[in-house]
Amino acid sequence: MNIVKKTVEFKPHSRNLFFHILTACNLKCKHCYINPEQHGTKTLDISTIKSWLRLFSHTDHSSAIKPVTDTNVIFLGGEPTLHPDLAAAIKEARKLGYGSVTVDTNGYLFNDILNRVTPEEVDYFSFSLDGSSSRINDLLRGNGSYEACTKGMEKARSKEFSISSIFTASRANIHDLPNMPGLLSSLGVSRFFIQVIGIRGNPAQRHETDLQLTREEWDAIVPDTAMKAARLGMYCTYPKVFLDNQEQFSCAGIVAENYFVFPNGRVYTCPLCEDYPLHSYEIKDNRLRKRPPLTEAQLFPLKIPEGCVMNRIFHPGNIQYGKTGNPLNIIACCMLKEELLSR
Ligand code: SF4
Ligand code: SF4
Repeated sequence: MNIVKKTVEFKPHSRNLFFHILTACNLKCKHCYINPEQHGTKTLDISTIKSWLRLFSHTDHSSAIKPVTDTNVIFLGGEPTLHPDLAAAIKEARKLGYGSVTVDTNGYLFNDILNRVTPEEVDYFSFSLDGSSSRINDLLRGNGSYEACTKGMEKARSKEFSISSIFTASRANIHDLPNMPGLLSSLGVSRFFIQVIGIRGNPAQRHETDLQLTREEWDAIVPDTAMKAARLGMYCTYPKVFLDNQEQFSCAGIVAENYFVFPNGRVYTCPLCEDYPLHSYEIKDNRLRKRPPLTEAQLFPLKIPEGCVMNRIFHPGNIQYGKTGNPLNIIACCMLKEELLSR
């Protein structure tokens, strides 16, 4: 089998809408990034969801953003299947001509969602699973979540939906990552996304017992596991994290079209900014507006030797420096992925 590995560049002429339609969730995962203070606690009603979908669709885009030929939508929460009108939101996205529709779920699949939409309407249900057994997964995601998630995957496959799986790697579960490709393959998963909770490169901080990984821990396990998944026929991606010195740095906030929309109307273009009121846009009265400075947008163009400016600001511990004060590695954009697939 021939495995092709490449860095996934940001795609021109298309945009990705990461649409958090509510922040409520039935789980309390240890690494959950939802921050109600910053993202609100609202559940958007269906007419608001439809209006906001129109703002980002290529047929009726807002004047605040440039026209594109294609938009992909990823419905998120909280847990999006807790929304009683998720099925109507999916159908509306299709009607508006979205290029693809994905639902990220913890696997509980509330509101009978699998019986209210079809595989033609949903490109992928993407299941979050952080371990190959309940012992490991449930420690991070809560009791019973492994069983619910794997059962949800089986149900979705039995109804012929395509399914993917997201694994958030941390110190608590990285040792179990090599067990995931076999399990996911047996469940019929066709795409495997490995995410990282945070990489800390500073050896001085290694004694800390939090969930963040060192570069060495990451390098020792992730690329080999991705290769294993690709050999089993899965499309697999993982964050690039570091660039080699000859590789060109680019910031998705400048060259790509990613919109992270929250129920309180905040719209970010960099996921690292989501804990701060730095959002580039906001939706008010169903209109998308660019916010005045200072937002994330004024920080993206800052050219620094470390690469990603938000990593430098928010996670300086991720960066190692040499004796001359130069960074030893360039931190890649968190949206840049390595992609492996079999041909
Ligand atoms: S399932 Fe997702 S939204 Fe819910 S607690 Fe876990 S990470 Fe957060
Ligand atoms: S992670 Fe860094 S490089 Fe990527 S969009 Fe944000 S600021 Fe730009």
